[in-house]
Amino acid sequence: MPEKTYDVVIIGSGPAGYTAALYAARANLQTLVFQGFESGGQLMLTSDVENYPGYKDGVQGPEMMDEFEEQAARFGAEMRPDNVERVDLSGRPFRLWAEGSGAGEEEPVLAKTVVIATGAQAKWLGLESEERLFGKGVSGCATCDAFFFRGKKVAVVGGGDTAMEEASVLAKFADEVYLIHRRDEFRSSKIMLDRARKNEKITFITDTTVEEILGETTVEGVRIKNAKTGEESTLAVDGFFAAIGHAPATSLFVDQLEMDGSGYLLQKEHTMTSVPGVFAAGDVSDTRYRQAVTAAADGCRAAIDAERWLEEQGEAEYAEDPGVWTAEKDVKESVA
Ligand SMILES: Cc1cc2nc3c(=O)[nH]c(=O)nc-3n(C[C@H](O)[C@H](O)[C@H](O)COP(=O)(O)OP(=O)(O)OC[C@H]3O[C@@H](n4cnc5c(N)ncnc54)[C@H](O)[C@@H]3O)c2cc1C
Repeated sequence: MPEKTYDVVIIGSGPAGYTAALYAARANLQTLVFQGFESGGQLMLTSDVENYPGYKDGVQGPEMMDEFEEQAARFGAEMRPDNVERVDLSGRPFRLWAEGSGAGEEEPVLAKTVVIATGAQAKWLGLESEERLFGKGVSGCATCDAFFFRGKKVAVVGGGDTAMEEASVLAKFADEVYLIHRRDEFRSSKIMLDRARKNEKITFITDTTVEEILGETTVEGVRIKNAKTGEESTLAVDGFFAAIGHAPATSLFVDQLEMDGSGYLLQKEHTMTSVPGVFAAGDVSDTRYRQAVTAAADGCRAAIDAERWLEEQGEAEYAEDPGVWTAEKDVKESVA
């Protein structure tokens, strides 16, 4: 391997990326994190995170991600605030180009292993009001936010499994859930649809589109339109949940890594993708849980998998001791 080849290069700085960085750097592997333009990931967009273990009174999303970053940096992980624009995973060392580096004209960053933790974004209807009221009653995650709608009325938009699941989760807290779908046929599995239909709190409104979310500083209702008659009406709700799917950030890896039909990276063996030495962690390969704690756990798994894989290749040349705190050192020093 040429000099200046990192043991692990991580793409992404959400819970998955920073946790992978923490584990890799703490294992004394030379570790670089491309944080991307959305440094800190999705939790930078939210206020209260109440379901991450260890924060018994909850924590602000950005504050938590600052702590994630500092913890990984403390063990020597290098941080680079750039987006990765291009990767070449066809041979080793793997090559990565930062945005603005001329995508091939400048020297690439070289990596023995790569952990991809680029996340996934909720899809939105594209309404101006969605953006304006995001976090003020507009959400893309019922597991994250249903708790805040106890005793309230909410609208969910979508017709697939995600929408059925979101509506069912919301019905545990909200008094009334309106499931709005633009057709009268559903993409969701029959079992999920039947479960939602049986739930007395969920009212189906079909052949209907959402034209606008109403409210100045908080959601007060939605303006809906019957797709058959064109008739418009207003539905008073306190919350609006878009449940029309997620888009994983995987365009960089098209034709290089195997993906499912929706573009999620496939983990073929533990967290390893279809290319040996390249690992995927967090929402970018998770069609089911999409939570901070599961993303962090996946980052841990990916870093351990990368370390073991390097050992199997006989390539785990550990970095110099970065001189950070370890429990062992503390004990030795206190004994001395
Ligand atoms: C508003 C909101 C509230 C939420 N609330 C909660 C909650 O209360 N509890 C909970 O458990 N979960 C919550 N979630 C879900 C949680 O945020 C995600 O499950 C989690 O952030 C996924 O982590 P990740 O590391 O996989 O990806 P992300 O957090 O999405 O991070 C992706 C990272 O990849 C980087 N990136 C992308 N492309 C590139 C590129 N080309 N080059 C370099 N970097 C790149 C981005 O900059 C970003 O840093 C919430 C999500 C949202 C949107």
